[in-house]
Amino acid sequence: MNAVPADPVLLLQRLIRFRSVNPPGEEGPCVAYVADLLRDAGIDVRLLARDQDRPNLVARIPGRGLAPPLLLHAHADVVPVEGQDWTVPPFEGRLSDGHVWGRGAIDMKGGLAMMLSALTRLRADGEDPAGDVLVAVSPDEETGSEMGARYLVDHHAELFDGVRYAIGEDGGAIFGAGGRRWHPVVVAEKRACWMRATLRGRGGHASRQGWSGTAMAALTRMLGALQTGRLPAHVTPAFERMAAELAAFSDGPLAGRMKALIHDPAAEVPYDLLPEADAVYLDSVIRNTANATIVRTSDKINMLPTEITVDIDGRILPGEWSADDYLAELRTLIGPEPEIEVLLEGRRSAQPVFGTFYDSLVSVLREKDPDGVPLPMMTPASTDARLFAGLGIACYGWLPLLTSPGSRYQDTMHAADERVPVEAVRFGADCVHRLLSTYR
Ligand SMILES: [Zn+2]
Repeated sequence: MNAVPADPVLLLQRLIRFRSVNPPGEEGPCVAYVADLLRDAGIDVRLLARDQDRPNLVARIPGRGLAPPLLLHAHADVVPVEGQDWTVPPFEGRLSDGHVWGRGAIDMKGGLAMMLSALTRLRADGEDPAGDVLVAVSPDEETGSEMGARYLVDHHAELFDGVRYAIGEDGGAIFGAGGRRWHPVVVAEKRACWMRATLRGRGGHASRQGWSGTAMAALTRMLGALQTGRLPAHVTPAFERMAAELAAFSDGPLAGRMKALIHDPAAEVPYDLLPEADAVYLDSVIRNTANATIVRTSDKINMLPTEITVDIDGRILPGEWSADDYLAELRTLIGPEPEIEVLLEGRRSAQPVFGTFYDSLVSVLREKDPDGVPLPMMTPASTDARLFAGLGIACYGWLPLLTSPGSRYQDTMHAADERVPVEAVRFGADCVHRLLSTYR
């Protein structure tokens, strides 16, 4: 047995050196490394694969039976680096300037390193957690999870019997304003509703100006509506709790404006008081959203196209809204004209659970960083948590990082020069360890 806990910073450097870029996804060597590390610490490991080159790892540390099993889930794949302007080699795991640099430093090999370090520390100390602790390390999170978490929950759900709570990545939920160090605790996620709109109209030679009823005119109307309009605001339990805490920890007019967002349906997101990124974030979690991302039409420059398709990335709030409810809202914005086909609909996402486990997450943060403010948040995106939530597990995005107040540390996520402060990783590993030793 390995009596030495794994150093989270060295571990992160090592993990970054595996080029587990997805697509194509070559997570195998990275997952095998993690399996060896856990086995060396005396932990039981199982590998479960739909594709043998892209295995999932599930490990279990027996607890004392005083609490339900707890799941830590992470993904081993990272997004590509092509076309990005890196100033350091992205897979070297360089340590400089107080940061670990490289693809995955934030999303999410940093988080995986924190979890693994905490687990090996628990083992090295001979500490048994209150309940069994399960670790799932999956491939394929970045392109739909078919080989990863979806395979696990569809084919090996029994491994997660009895699990009540899970922690995983934060899915990019971040708030930077207000001069405080906010610690996100992601309590809810939105789900995807990807669509294709088709617009039709009269054709003709493009040398003639002024035709009514063209597909281009319909496209202009639809894109204009999507760009300047908004779907209606809905105050969900996650939003209400977040806005109330932002109000409580804000000064001056911002506090009032945050409260108004909860109670006044006509209140607008305070773009005038917040950095744009924070306002955009709030705007995206108080409502369902729709963004046009791909436009396709003919390739004839001298012909008016008779058909144009537009792919739309729609996102639906947690709760009971169906895709039809969402489409009805969308119709009020874009009108009856476009034909809409749903290409992909994510599973319904659950409302948050604010119980004793949530309180444990918050109290670890308060203990480890008395100056920071834990903040319940919703992510406008979705992570593998949506799949584990389908098993009835209450999932939380919780990988604490110690960064300076106002830091937009996640701006390098999926971008060039992804990096994470060394002290942030050590802090996170320490918080995860504390959670494992104290949760009930
Ligand atoms: Zn991620």
